[in-house]
Parts: sequence; structure tokens; C-alpha cells
Amino acid sequence: MRVVDHVIVGNPGGAAARSGEVFDPNTGQVQAQVPLGTEADLEKAVAAALAAQPGWAATNPQRRARVLFKFKELVEANMDSLAHLLSSEHGKVVADAKGDIQRGLEVVEFACGIPHALKGEYTQGAGSGIDVFSMRQPIGIGAGITPFNFPAMIPMWMFGVAIACGNAFILKPSERDPSVPVRLAELMAEAGLPAGVLQVVHGDKEMVDAILDHPAIGAVSFVGSSDIAHYVYRRGVAAGKRVQAMGGAKNHGIVMPDADLDQVVADLSGAAFGSAGERCMALPVVVPVGDKTADALRAKLIPAIAALKVGVSTDPDAHYGPVVNAAHKARVENWIQTGVDEGAELVVDGRGFSLQGHEQGFFIGPSLFDRVTPQMRSYQEEIFGPVLQIVRAPDFETALRLPSEHQYGNGVAIFTRNGHAAREFASRVNVGMVGINVPIPVPVAYHTFGGWKRSAFGDVNQHGMEGVRFWTKVKTVTQRWPDGSADGGNAFVIPTMG
Ligand code: NAD
Repeated sequence: MRVVDHVIVGNPGGAAARSGEVFDPNTGQVQAQVPLGTEADLEKAVAAALAAQPGWAATNPQRRARVLFKFKELVEANMDSLAHLLSSEHGKVVADAKGDIQRGLEVVEFACGIPHALKGEYTQGAGSGIDVFSMRQPIGIGAGITPFNFPAMIPMWMFGVAIACGNAFILKPSERDPSVPVRLAELMAEAGLPAGVLQVVHGDKEMVDAILDHPAIGAVSFVGSSDIAHYVYRRGVAAGKRVQAMGGAKNHGIVMPDADLDQVVADLSGAAFGSAGERCMALPVVVPVGDKTADALRAKLIPAIAALKVGVSTDPDAHYGPVVNAAHKARVENWIQTGVDEGAELVVDGRGFSLQGHEQGFFIGPSLFDRVTPQMRSYQEEIFGPVLQIVRAPDFETALRLPSEHQYGNGVAIFTRNGHAAREFASRVNVGMVGINVPIPVPVAYHTFGGWKRSAFGDVNQHGMEGVRFWTKVKTVTQRWPDGSADGGNAFVIPTMG
């Protein structure tokens, strides 16, 4: 059996006391083992990071950027094999796996501009003969704890920026699809990154707790489900660390009566069912405004859903593949049952779907619910599967309130031809990322990614300049070079520039 080992400097490899199983979701078979690391494993990684980081921080930013340029080239050259590996452990179709890698690579491209991004501020003559300047210095050792659903993009969101800023980085990827993060670390080494600057430790709660408690780790970035995000945030902050912790989501798409419904249906099919709904920026709730819009939308959605092709993740014609594992499949199917029990109308039932020749794979057909209401638990919670829920709203104000009052506030979209309504919506909605006729408004790498409410704990977003701020400490220097002629004033009074 293949073992996906840690990437720790000096790691002898070999048998771990505990290990996890990595499945091929297409077949339901175990394809690899992953060690579930301990505090002792982390200790080795921290020692190597402590040894490597000062030299890396002292390497000038342009040279650090050159390693990232080389890494980008290597990832591009290995795109096909990385995408197949990703797809074989996650279950998303290969084209979508390439998108996962590409969106991460775009953050690496942003990080290639780190010499510019790290330039500090300078004020000449802040007082008589006094200049003030600031510099951004690395935290030291940063750690990232990432979810299964974007095993390439999310690690690159974090380590791309953290490493460019001069930090050493320890990545704890999801134990469900750990191979691509390991390959990315290998490619970084091939690109010339000194040993110890990027390491990968595998594990579950035991390893996460060890990271959160370790005094040498100064900053932790987490992405995953909300309860764990909140836990990570509390424990990391209590240990005196800087923490950003992104959580779950339940994104709504508001459909105004003037929207182009054919376009909406095409957008919704991909946004609700792409990657089997396992995206934090999926669009699992659609809110048509007015019954006429709802009826027309529903009538168009039914055939569009019937035309969706669920297949193995290597099938180029498949719209989406299996979900990640059997437990998640059961969880999604339970939510469908909960929706039925709560009184929602199950228009299309994706349960019981079986793919010929792949009966043990973790496939779920697409489901559509109508007449879902805000009181239902199946509306309040994240399902994270190929399930689209229609919540009917009588008017714009009600539609605006639904995402605004939901516990999650990651993304939201409005579909309309009315610029005023769109502008009003974007300004008033209580959600962090907004799409106007854009179903999955994941901001580009040089902007920043982050939701509101229970979708993110902490106050600094991922990537862009917010990422640079997260992975650096600011130091401000006030200097004067007296020539000996001034009288120095009253040194016992707090200095002012007056
Ligand atoms: P998860 O919360 O189960 O796991 C995330 C990470 O936490 C993994 O590395 C895992 O090993 C670790 N972990 C699991 N249980 C833990 C515990 N009890 N204590 C400490 N650490 C633990 O999430 P997942 O299922 O891998 O990913 C899906 C979730 O991530 C969804 O809720 C999705 O919305 C969310 N997500 C959010 C964003 C965002 O940016 N807001 C992006 C992608 C995914």
C-alpha cells in the first residue's frame, strides 16, 4: 500500500502509530495510507523550520520571488499529473482539479511581486529632523491547516504568501487527500526553496492541537468547517498566536424578476452541482423573487438537472464526480431526508444513484428542493453536496434579508439586469463576497478572500495585501540624526511633533 509520508527534514519515514485511509472516491477502495502525526513529529518540523527561517528571511525578496517563479513553472509543467492525482483522491473532475491548481497558482503569481508588496511606508520630516519609516518583517514560523475540498488552491493561498514574506511554513493538509500538498512541497524544493522552509505534517486533531499550542509557531491560518474554525481560533488566540480561521458557508443566489433565466440556470447548474457541491463558494440556495420567477426558474431547472452527467472524475464529459468519502455521502443523504421530513418539496431526488461498474463509488445524483423555508434545519446548515434548495421570496427586501440573517456569510450573488437593485444589494447585504451576475464570486488573487459571520473568525482575509499583512509584523522606526546644535528640549515631556 502506498504511504503518503510527512515532508519533514530528517524524517526517517516508516510506520506511524496511527494512520488514516485515503480513498479513491470513484471506486470506494482505499488507495493509500497517511500517517497521523504526533507532537513529536511536529517538534522535528519546528526544529528544522527554526534552523532554516533566519537564512530565508535574510535572502532578499527578489531572490525569494525567483524561487516562486520557478515553482510556478514546475507546477505548470506538472499540471496534468497533479490534476489527475488531485482528482483521484478528491473526486472532482480533472478539468475542475486543474482550476483548483490554477487558482492557487494565481496567488503564487501575486506572491512573485513580493518585493513591491513588502515596501514599507516612509515619512520624511515627521518632526524637525525626524523621519519615520515602517518595515514588514516575517512572523517566523507560520502554519496552515487546510480542508479536503481544495487540496491545491488553499495550501497555495497560504504558503505562497507566507514564504514570499520570509517565513518558514508548516502545512497540515486534510488527511483525506494529502498527496497533492506533498507534491507541491516537493516541487518547491525542486524550485530551490531551502530545506525546512516548507514542510508538510499529516494528522488530525492531535496534530492540529500540537500546532495550536506550539510556542514557536507565531501565526496559524485555518480553512475548514465553522465549529472547528471557531475552536482553532479560540485555542490559537489563547496561546498568543495570530489566527485567521475561515469556516463553512451557505451561499444564496437572488434571482430578480428581470434576470435572464437561461443564463441563471446555466450558472446555477455549475455553481450548485460542480465539484458535487463541495465548495465553500458553491451556490446551494436560490432565492427567486416573486412566485412567477420561482415557477419559471423551477420549470427550467428540472430539465437542466436531468441533463447533468455524473461520472467518474476522469470522464471528460462528466459534470461532476463522486463526493469525497462514504461518511460524507451518508451525511448529504441524511440532509436530503431531513429536508423531506421538515416539509420541503423534493422535486428531484439524487439518492440511490449508482454508476454502472462503480457501484461502490461515493456518487450522489443531483437533488432539487422547492418551498424550503428559513425555519428548516436543512436550510440553516451547510449540506456541502449536490443539493439545490429553492427558497421563495415575495420581494427584494425579503430576499436581501435571507442571506443577511443567515449564520453564514461567505458569498452571495444577485442575478438582475437592474443596476440600481444590484448596487443596493451589494451595499446592504451582510455577506463578505458578492457576485453581480457572477455565481461564484471568488475574488482574484490580488484582492482578498474572506467571508463574514460564522464563515470566518479573525479579522484578516486570505491572500492579496491582507495576506501580506497576516504573515508579517510591522515595525515602525522613528529616527533623527542630531548634529549636536539643538538643545534637545524638555526630555521629561512625552515627545510631540508640535
Ligand atoms: P474540516 O473542518 O473537517 O477539516 C478542516 C481541517 O481541520 C482538516 O485539516 C482536518 O484535519 C482538521 N480537523 C478535522 N477535525 C478536527 C478537530 N476536531 N479538531 C481540529 N482539527 C480538525 O473541513 P473539511 O470537511 O475538510 O472541509 C469542508 C469544510 O471547509 C466546509 O465546511 C467548507 O465550507 C469549508 N471551507 C471553507 C472555505 C472558506 O474559505 N471559507 C474554503 C473551503 C472549505
